[in-house]
Amino acid sequence: MTNLIVREDTAVEPAVAPTFTSNAIELRGIVKTYGSEVALHELDLDIRDGEFFCLLGPSGCGKTTTLNIIGGFVGTTGGTVRIAGEDVTKKSPNRRPVNTVFQSYALFPHLTVIENVAFGLRMARVSKAERTRRAQDALDLVGLGAFSSRPVAKLSGGQAQRVAVARALVNKPKVLLLDEPLGALDLKLRKRLQTELSIIQRQVGTTFVFVTHDQEEAMALADRIAILNEGRIEQMGTPEEIYRTPRTRFVAEFIGESNILNGRRVGTEFELENGARVPIAATASADTTALVVRPESLRIDADGFLDAEIVSRAYLGSITRVVLKLAGSEQLVVSTISDHALEHLDESTLEIGRRVRVSWSLKAAHPIAEH
Ligand code: ATP
Repeated sequence: MTNLIVREDTAVEPAVAPTFTSNAIELRGIVKTYGSEVALHELDLDIRDGEFFCLLGPSGCGKTTTLNIIGGFVGTTGGTVRIAGEDVTKKSPNRRPVNTVFQSYALFPHLTVIENVAFGLRMARVSKAERTRRAQDALDLVGLGAFSSRPVAKLSGGQAQRVAVARALVNKPKVLLLDEPLGALDLKLRKRLQTELSIIQRQVGTTFVFVTHDQEEAMALADRIAILNEGRIEQMGTPEEIYRTPRTRFVAEFIGESNILNGRRVGTEFELENGARVPIAATASADTTALVVRPESLRIDADGFLDAEIVSRAYLGSITRVVLKLAGSEQLVVSTISDHALEHLDESTLEIGRRVRVSWSLKAAHPIAEH
């Protein structure tokens, strides 16, 4: 919509309307090549204001390159980068409203915790009283309020990473970029910091863009996830959307465990490679080439529609994982049974070598169409 300014002399002219955007970041047609290698292929990506967004994918898929392009540490070969509505494609990192937390904490070892956090404010010539107050607030936010005068050399890995987060948030950036920030920590600490980061992000409301190759971490943290594969976005959505309705075989395999059953649609049914026919949703495309059934949806029951044999079984505490071989094929499928459901099963049902039948509900079989 064009805004009109009415001057005193009654001349009317259009004003430049501020671009209202609820997107913190907009990438359009981003291409990045290194010599003859294409790291990103015309990537389009919108990250909303205030969301916790994860870039997820295997090593070399282009996550860090995407993050570095947003931060301005790496130039683009083509395309535009907008942050908070402003085209920053040609701007240097320090002129973008963005801060970054790296896996290596990159703290100044000769400074104390609070001096590290206040460092950027000092460079920006913020008064001493003001920078101490803001740095202390940032440290309180990450739960290190009592550590301000400690030398950073005397911090644990988890504490150092919290200081790095406080330092990155102290000047209130619009966007915080985090490149595998928990990658160097052991699993238990990593999980604790995931919870803390998620609480901090909700408290400050800053847009977080978080790079990880760990799908569980992305699922635990993200409002939305983009899954990258070889420089392209395979799928973008909430953790639930991606888990329940993977669009491609790659996504189904990358997120969680999947039973991928190849075959073809025949009328109202789906014919598996072993010739057995199973139900398929009426809305599934005629080009469906596979059904994805999650292990928790694969049921072992006497009324099932597929014959199978139990190959192995492992009690894992909250679930029991059962591997089965489908009759007439070499395909193995996995069924997980909750501990609660296990209590109601006759033990002999899960004997190794036992022939059983399996099934799933129609809505638990997600169709994938490939061309
Ligand atoms: P990882 O999880 O291993 O860090 P990633 O998904 O972050 O991987 P990128 O680091 O973005 O992947 O790399 C994407 C592709 O670009 C890779 O094939 C990589 O080899 C290539 N690449 C990245 N940086 C450079 C560079 N400076 N020079 C040449 N090739 C590069």
